[in-house]
Amino acid sequence: ADSALDAIQAQSGLNAFLHVDAELTRAQARAADDLLGQGRGGSLTGIPIAHKDVFVTRGWRTTAASKMLADYTSPFDATVVSLLEQAGAVSLGKLNCDEFAMGSGNENSAFGPARNPWDADAVPGGSSGGSAAAVAAGLVMAATGTDTGGSVRQPAALCGVSGIKPTYGTVSRFGMVAFGSSLDQAGPLARHARDLLELLDPISAFDQRDATSLPDCDGAANQSGRVRAQFDAAVAAQQEGGAKPLQGLRIGVPAEFFNEGLSPEVAQAVESALQTYESLGARRVEISLPRTKLSIPAYYVIAPAEASSNLSRYDGVRYGHRTASYGDLADMTSRSRAEGFGPEVLRRILVGTYVLCHGYYDAYYLQAQRIRRLIAQDFQQAFADHCDVIMGPVTPSVAKRIGENRDDPTADWLADVYTLGVSLAGLPAMSIPCGFSSSAKPLPIGLQLIGDYFREGQLLAIADRFQ
Ligand code: GLN
Repeated sequence: ADSALDAIQAQSGLNAFLHVDAELTRAQARAADDLLGQGRGGSLTGIPIAHKDVFVTRGWRTTAASKMLADYTSPFDATVVSLLEQAGAVSLGKLNCDEFAMGSGNENSAFGPARNPWDADAVPGGSSGGSAAAVAAGLVMAATGTDTGGSVRQPAALCGVSGIKPTYGTVSRFGMVAFGSSLDQAGPLARHARDLLELLDPISAFDQRDATSLPDCDGAANQSGRVRAQFDAAVAAQQEGGAKPLQGLRIGVPAEFFNEGLSPEVAQAVESALQTYESLGARRVEISLPRTKLSIPAYYVIAPAEASSNLSRYDGVRYGHRTASYGDLADMTSRSRAEGFGPEVLRRILVGTYVLCHGYYDAYYLQAQRIRRLIAQDFQQAFADHCDVIMGPVTPSVAKRIGENRDDPTADWLADVYTLGVSLAGLPAMSIPCGFSSSAKPLPIGLQLIGDYFREGQLLAIADRFQ
């Protein structure tokens, strides 16, 4: 534990960690040692991990990278945190991210940007930027993240690590600071698919404290062991294929994912990954996801609408920051919120309350919900008629420089085009490294794998073949 904490200190320039607590970590490490000494350890016993700072933790502060929660400590642990602790993982602390998980570059953190370990001038991606940076820099074996519109897949891609967003409802949201509740889903980041499996399996469990937790999926009880069983079965089937382990696998490649906005080097890396899969026996099928572009306006209506509602709890009374001097109660709330929230969060609250206004609700929110349903139907049709898995890029380009889009906040929104549809549909998807840019400091490129509902184990097995 001490050398791991020293490494975090040595790499503090990355700004990946927001809180560490040596005593807490040492206590967990001692407990893991005891278990191992008694021969009772599991696959995660003693494994160093860390949590995105939107998972509440009894020991460490939980800030959601916001001034609003700068001094907040939760009285309980998030379900994901306690399940991983039960599995023996040792937490090294809490990781930087975009404020309330709103962003694509970790630049919206109230505690400064995290940096990309491949190039300190580049963003690590976001919102789970600290998670991706910590894994890429070797500070932890794995980290938790959350993905509302791409925040596990995109930073994984930009930092050259792997990440999976499971089917919506399979991992508990209890104790996750809420952003867009119908979209928010926790998922791990790590180097390899097999490491992701070790984290995802124990956290894929029904939780009665989360109203959208799925008690039952794919005919089987949604409980620990489901993802591993599916992974093992898929790997066994692959082994029967000998030199062509993926024989018969149909990979859907959506035409809309290879549009003008895609940089040539990302297109090339994805293309060569597809060729690798073909050499393993898979077959490429051209498919269409015609509403891909509409996922941007639909998401940037629905996510802010839900955010504006979720963030109404930060009123200066119940949680977080309260302004020092004020007049009446309304003045106290508005001053506290103006001081506590950063610019991107305020922007989303404004958009969200606007689209939910009487008179605009039908024109924006309801329309966005209709588009959401059509996007989900497009994916369902692709899986029903054409393919077993969908592949494409995660991001249109490699990591940009810190501050590059400072004057144009919606430039980041447009770059989410390949990840948002999956989130709106609630599907599982992952990102694995598939290449590097040719710049002086090469930056990683990610390949996205999208599966049908509850196919996390299969996705991980397909990813494992590439790695
Ligand atoms: N970039 C998207 C946004 O800013 C997604 C963020 C996320 O998945 N948390 O909303």
